Amino acid sequence: MHITYERRCIACRQTNLKQNLIRVCRVNGKYIIDDTYKALGRSAYICKKNECLNKVVDKKLLNRAFKTNLEDIYSNLRGCIE
Ligand SMILES: [Zn+2]
Repeated sequence: MHITYERRCIACRQTNLKQNLIRVCRVNGKYIIDDTYKALGRSAYICKKNECLNKVVDKKLLNRAFKTNLEDIYSNLRGCIE
């Protein structure tokens, strides 16, 4: 089986190594920033770049990725913007 470690950023749509990405994961109905990259659940990736983080926060792109209305996670992501 082919295993790839590249993931696609939901902001710029570029693929990147996962260590260069922030992983947002749904765990038990809660949305978290998964620093371990190991949490089980539906997930979305965002480049660790201000440009992509700003875009995700401004346009609430995680709502589209997870098909639900998210609020709290955006303030957490704002904390990742340098
Ligand atoms: Zn990106």
